[in-house]
Amino acid sequence: MENTLKIGFVGGGQLAMMTALEARIISDYDFRINILDPSADCPAHKVAAEQIIGDFKDPTAIKRLAEISDIITYEIELGDVTALRELRNEGTEIHPSPETLEIIQDKLTQKKFLDQKGIPVPNFLEASNKDEIRRAVQDLGIPCLLKTRRDAYDGRGNFVIRRKEQIDLAHKKFVGKPVMVEEFVNFQKEVSIVVAKGRNEVAAYPPGENYHEDGILIMTRMPAKISKEVEREAERIARRTLKAFDDQGVFGIEMFVVNDKILVNEVAPRVHNTGHGTLEKSAFEASQFEQHLRAISSAPLRGTEIRKPVVMQNILGSKDSFIGPYTIMGANEVNILPGVHLYLYGKKEVRPLRKLGHLSVVGNEQERADGISDLSSDESNMDVLVSRARSAHSMLKVVPVGAYGN
Ligand code: AMP
Repeated sequence: MENTLKIGFVGGGQLAMMTALEARIISDYDFRINILDPSADCPAHKVAAEQIIGDFKDPTAIKRLAEISDIITYEIELGDVTALRELRNEGTEIHPSPETLEIIQDKLTQKKFLDQKGIPVPNFLEASNKDEIRRAVQDLGIPCLLKTRRDAYDGRGNFVIRRKEQIDLAHKKFVGKPVMVEEFVNFQKEVSIVVAKGRNEVAAYPPGENYHEDGILIMTRMPAKISKEVEREAERIARRTLKAFDDQGVFGIEMFVVNDKILVNEVAPRVHNTGHGTLEKSAFEASQFEQHLRAISSAPLRGTEIRKPVVMQNILGSKDSFIGPYTIMGANEVNILPGVHLYLYGKKEVRPLRKLGHLSVVGNEQERADGISDLSSDESNMDVLVSRARSAHSMLKVVPVGAYGN
């Protein structure tokens, strides 16, 4: 087929896996997905064209990925920026750019960048030792958060300081790591927008409303239950954020709604967990994974309108989970529930709070008949979807291999 493009993903987790699966159903381009991942049996290994086994930060491994790919992209923000910049300077096409990645890899640099570009963010302060942390906590007020600046995701590098006496503990927890202090935002809601930017066009999905526990995403409902004004403002800010980065690809923009205003919490230069609902073919014309491939290769983007409401719930290892090989019981029962779609990522081992899969519940025909503009106001429908997602989720049990003769 013409239009064959080999896309090299730094990372072979579930995001690369879902992208590789979606790549197969794109009719006008023949995308082949290569991956770089340290683990030979990472989620994407079964569906990738080729795999380089190596660390995301290993320059030699990244170069090998570039040798077998036309365009380099990421499913994880941990790639080695220096190696990527060198490759780009030698002519490899890389989206998002190493410069974007560098800004995003450091939460403080990212917040400063957004702030300089006039994008509203929570108040924050740099703090490189205990005295500076103490001063920053005093300036920002309690409660506030101590955040590690690098290599932190799913809330893992955050400590909420609720009393002055906790400063020492917070400092000790992240000692040796660069940190920043951020005001605690008493938000009404957390929302996110997944936006695709191609060479000359931008396409934004509607905001999703997110529920986190312990800093990790549990559920996203699309559309979010927010006023039209807040929705417009969130979209305006999402587009402005993409403009600031002036790049190509799908970006996930996490935001807080506070006093009906938007503050950007974090930008991910990749497909995003809160956008998994876009995989639902009856609800969306094209998924975020397809859009990402299109965006980075300057192919025309597709529509992002929502036709039916979708509730997405993550399937995680429990907080006190065992570590090791596992089986998920109940998958057969969940698979036959109408409108429920179960996605399991095939990870070999479970760990506390590890993402093992997700499920989506799509609204029915009646909801579509209500019209797109009514989707977000149709609260009773959404409540039904949320409770169906919860009850489907409760049917799944993660158990050690062999526990029930499995
Ligand atoms: P992050 O590691 O910045 O993605 O944060 C993970 C989660 O922690 C967010 O989704 C919020 O639920 C919470 N969080 C992060 N920053 C703040 C903040 N400044 N105020 C309140 N909650 C926050």
